[in-house]
Amino acid sequence: MRKDLSVFDIETVRRDFPILSRSVHGRKLAYLDNGATTFVPERVLAAVEEQYRSFQANVHRGVHYLSEQSTERVERVRFETAGFINANSPEEIVFTSGTTGSINLAARAFSDGILQQGDRVITTQMEHHSNLVPWQEACRRSGAELDIVHMTDEGELDLNELSRLLEKRPKLFAVAWVSNVLGTVNPLERIIPIAHAAGCPVLVDAAQAMRHGCVDVQALDCDFLCFSGHKIMGPTGVGVLYGRREWLERLTPASFGGGMIDEVDTKKSTFAEIPFKFEAGTPNIAGIIGLGAALRYLKDLGLPEIYAREAELLTYVGRMLGERGDLDVLGSPAERAGAISFNVRGLSCYDAAKLLDQLGVAVRSGHHCAQPLLKRFSLTGAVRVTPAFYNTREEIDALCSGLDRIAALLDNKR
Ligand code: PLP
Repeated sequence: MRKDLSVFDIETVRRDFPILSRSVHGRKLAYLDNGATTFVPERVLAAVEEQYRSFQANVHRGVHYLSEQSTERVERVRFETAGFINANSPEEIVFTSGTTGSINLAARAFSDGILQQGDRVITTQMEHHSNLVPWQEACRRSGAELDIVHMTDEGELDLNELSRLLEKRPKLFAVAWVSNVLGTVNPLERIIPIAHAAGCPVLVDAAQAMRHGCVDVQALDCDFLCFSGHKIMGPTGVGVLYGRREWLERLTPASFGGGMIDEVDTKKSTFAEIPFKFEAGTPNIAGIIGLGAALRYLKDLGLPEIYAREAELLTYVGRMLGERGDLDVLGSPAERAGAISFNVRGLSCYDAAKLLDQLGVAVRSGHHCAQPLLKRFSLTGAVRVTPAFYNTREEIDALCSGLDRIAALLDNKR
């Protein structure tokens, strides 16, 4: 049974993130840019520091005590990460530099070993550039064609178009679970079976999905899933590529060097087993340790409570923005998570975000690395609000007061 939301003691939680109580421009900070990156709790900072302070030795390369300790600690995080997303085994977890690194790894492996001239790959108009440009490049290198699923006016994927494109027997469908601009939650539980019925594997960009609902790769039945540590209260520079075992075994490595080999001769080498064949060079050891601490922190806080609180806060932002007559909210998807974007009429998104910043409210402005999505709405930018579970209604009220101030300024200018 789910615990009541009241057990989520927000003041206690906020104390885990001292940065939340800092001020900017002499104002109390209201940080509503968690879609870009989240704050890091003390526990994660301590874990990273402890790794550097007391362990630090390189992994997989030594028999001495500290090297064995570092290796064991990293492999424990691999095991915990597999548990967190319910992967079948830790070998299905590849550590990368982030979602972008994960998708590039997959795209390179596909272009080098799977895609051939005339093959097809599908992605969508909704994607972050990180799940679009690597596939453009993979297609360019291999001679494959890239097909795009377009969006409806509501900001949802056109699933009829997807079905038609799947008839062309593509080699992969790469899709975001949650849009980083509109917050649209794509119905993967419907999409993945349709793709699989057409013989098409699915790569899920879960960068924005990890704090909004249970991520269970076996229940979802995806073939690949990518996410970043820094969007789930972990450090920057670390992320995960989950790949179904059969796929990881089939793919060729995308980068080469130490750590990923089995046997090296001057002219030829053989590669290690999964996941190590995809992890050339020294990994971000402290980052991985920090990621493990972040996953533990989220679990200890209570994942259902986190999902519920984030949903409640986003609903509140949506209601407050929806009640205003001076701005346009982008899209109206059936299910929204994590993000909501808008434009104040008569003001550029940059000016709106800059004015809000002066009042201590941190929101993101611009194209959010999703230019095709914005073009679909005939826009070049928008203001984006992305609350996290440690935010409060008061901080969203600060955003609304800021918008009132902007409205007053605009009125005075008219
Ligand atoms: N995909 C989506 C949906 C994102 O929102 C982001 C980052 O905002 C990325 C990919 C890229 O993540 P990273 O910069 O951590 O690699």
